[in-house]
Amino acid sequence: MNDLEFGTRDKRGNWRPNRRLEVGPLLDMPWNLMRVLKWIPSYFLPWNVVFFAIAGLFWVSLTPERTTLQTFDWGWVAFIFLRNAALIALLYGALELRLYVRRAQGDRFKYNGKFPSDAPSSVFWFNNQNVDGVLRTFLSGLPIWTAYEVLILWMWANGLGPWAIFGDSPLWLVAFGLMIPLIHEVHFFIIHRLIHIPILYKWIHSVHHNSVNPSPWSSLSMHPVEHLLYWSDSLIHLIVPSHPVLVLYHLQVTGTGAVIGHIGFDKIETGAGRAIDSHAYAHYLHHKYFEVNYADGMLPLDKWMGTWHDGTKEGYRLMKERFQKKKARQVARPSLKEKENIG
Ligand SMILES: [Zn+2]
Ligand SMILES: [Zn+2]
Repeated sequence: MNDLEFGTRDKRGNWRPNRRLEVGPLLDMPWNLMRVLKWIPSYFLPWNVVFFAIAGLFWVSLTPERTTLQTFDWGWVAFIFLRNAALIALLYGALELRLYVRRAQGDRFKYNGKFPSDAPSSVFWFNNQNVDGVLRTFLSGLPIWTAYEVLILWMWANGLGPWAIFGDSPLWLVAFGLMIPLIHEVHFFIIHRLIHIPILYKWIHSVHHNSVNPSPWSSLSMHPVEHLLYWSDSLIHLIVPSHPVLVLYHLQVTGTGAVIGHIGFDKIETGAGRAIDSHAYAHYLHHKYFEVNYADGMLPLDKWMGTWHDGTKEGYRLMKERFQKKKARQVARPSLKEKENIG
């Protein structure tokens, strides 16, 4: 495919899409029904349908029986860990292999003109972004994901919490299921904004931002405290009526879904003239500019907070203006020492 029909490439080799990034229309004003209707397919396709299918498969075939889950045992805990680890290894590994190792579509639709492996950096374990990402994913990401899953499934098996069954509450469970990606977005926006507070950023979130040019293994490359915060939205299933399949779906949206923003390509080519939209651009801009797009724009959270970057030159100008104002405020603010002198 010719990516220059869809975007432009600058002299550094960085490609950007022509179309403006739009926030989801559900809560965006002025509200427009046609916009909502046109947006609905992109809410489901391709990712959320895939995540729900995986959750369904896990629930039907790859989750121990309720009687087994009632008693804590390292055997079934290890099984759940290995099942999650295998999925991540397969999916993230396949994307990384195709796009970054084999470079099957070259740099077509690639936001950053460079490939991370061409620029080793000492900020990463073993000077290697991929090795760093893989180790952090398997050593702390997956154990913490699995710990949340084990806790919630164990509580369900023992009847602890307001669990519902489909026969009794079909409307609620469907509505809740539809809301899960939105709940994840709100939660992620809040914890993400929190860990951008300078002291927490330095201690926790800078690990994730070491990947300025992210690739799939950057997705769960986080400090363990960020992993703990990141999956904590799954605890909502212990507060509102839910069903275990929705727990598994939620963990897919959060865990497996982390890859979406870190693919680094706007489209994944699947054949001659065919490609899947990655939905990666909003979060790519976050990795590039740090203080924009704290969420992915499904809801207009960044727009409300003045931190939305729509990927256009105008978006870039607004961001620069905001950064300059922030800098001016910091310069104008007297330091503690100066305050003491004034006092
Ligand atoms: Zn990221
Ligand atoms: Zn961040």
